[in-house]
This record gives sequence, structure tokens and C-alpha cells, in this order.
Amino acid sequence: MTIDFECAGCGADFEVDVAILMEDATKLQCPNCDAKADPHSVEDLMGALDDVMASMAHLRRKFHFALNMETDDLPPPYGPADGEQEEEEVWEEEEDVEK
Ligand SMILES: [Zn+2]
Repeated sequence: MTIDFECAGCGADFEVDVAILMEDATKLQCPNCDAKADPHSVEDLMGALDDVMASMAHLRRKFHFALNMETDDLPPPYGPADGEQEEEEVWEEEEDVEK
């Protein structure tokens, strides 16, 4: 299982295996410009992801499902990324279509 990243600095797209990030939070680094994420934030994310996966493993006895989680498509109160507030209306319309 991998996570797709887009570097906010240079725009490079890359993916990192979740198992690698679980083992070493410093492995989240842009292969193009070497930008790094705060390891503590990565550790927090991996800890939360571990909880999500445990819950998914439990739920799959009843339902098989997939999560599409994107930083640019987070529900309230997280909303769009900073600096993209003007796109909020568009984002809400897209949310309605998906349901
Ligand atoms: Zn980069």
C-alpha cells in the first residue's frame, strides 16, 4: 500500500510505501528537490493510519471498501489547503456530485 505525494515546493509527484513510512518517518522526502516533512507529523499520520487500518480490518467482515483521502479534498472543518480558500465553492459542488 502506497501513498501518493505531490511536493508543494516543486510539484513533483511521487509515492512512498506505507510500510516504509511506518518504519522510518524521515523517509518522506521529495526525490526531486529533497524537501522533507516534519518526522513528528509523519509519525502522527502513520499512527492514525494504523488505527484506521485496524478499524478497516475489523469492518471488512461485513463490508469491503476503499478510502480516497486527499489533502485537497478534506471535509469540514479541515477544508481546502491554505491559500485555496477561493476554490471552496467549487470543492463543495464536487463533494455533492460524489455522493
Ligand atoms: Zn520537491
